[in-house]
Amino acid sequence: MTLKTALRRARDTLAGSGIEDAPLEGELLLKYALNISRTRLYTELERELSPREEETLWRLVERRRNGEPTAYITTSREFYGLDFYVDPRVLIPRPESELLVEAALKLAQNRHLSAIADIGTGCVAIAVSLALELPEAKIYATDISAPALEVAGINCRKHGVADRVHLLQGDMLTPIPEPVELIVANLPYVEKSELTPLRFEPRLALDGGAEGTERIGQLCRQVGAGLKSGGCLLLEIGQGQENAVTSFLRRFFPEGEIEVAPDLSGIERVISLSLTSSQARVAR
Ligand code: GLN
Repeated sequence: MTLKTALRRARDTLAGSGIEDAPLEGELLLKYALNISRTRLYTELERELSPREEETLWRLVERRRNGEPTAYITTSREFYGLDFYVDPRVLIPRPESELLVEAALKLAQNRHLSAIADIGTGCVAIAVSLALELPEAKIYATDISAPALEVAGINCRKHGVADRVHLLQGDMLTPIPEPVELIVANLPYVEKSELTPLRFEPRLALDGGAEGTERIGQLCRQVGAGLKSGGCLLLEIGQGQENAVTSFLRRFFPEGEIEVAPDLSGIERVISLSLTSSQARVAR
């Protein structure tokens, strides 16, 4: 069988199992099975697969059909144009979370961000993306999960930012030694009742409690002490959570400026809170 036929069959098999992004995932699995780059795949389309390569490919396709995410099978996921190592110790970064990076970079155009915190960093995709775009910034990245931070360490070394991204284990802001100008957080926000045992990803990274907003609420309570005067908070939220989260923030920061922004599907996805200098002092 040629690579071309194998690619088509892998894609058809995945599509037949209801996998939405079958064209891309078929390609990723074939590349991984053959250990070749995308360019090589497309220049070698007429070459025959060896029996061993074929066996490897169909084994991977079978794993995918059983629900295992392609990112875990291939131990990699692209985020903000960068390749991150991932395994079941961390949540697989989602494209929506690139909005947090974009929102943070927009803020960086108008203010000096010398210290930034990424809370619930997981595989550290957000913090590394920011570190590469903002070479002057010192970034603290925290997670309650020690196994997740092992993966984060791999990615900081892979992208050469281990000296500027400080990985700290602990609850939300508590391990961070100084107030920062910006806090970004993609915390677990899935309602407990929606978590199925079939998920391959760590429960801890998804479980947002009964309403889905418990972790976000916890962070909101800590923010006053962790932000510098005039600081900013950027939160990723789940569908329909904008009112609940806005009211948490209003309660703690009655004068804060709050904005909500949608993702590409039109779902409200990012909430930002900006403090004025005097508010931050009161809050602390
Ligand atoms: N968007 C993710 C999902 O629906 C949830 C990520 C999170 O809880 N922060 O699977």
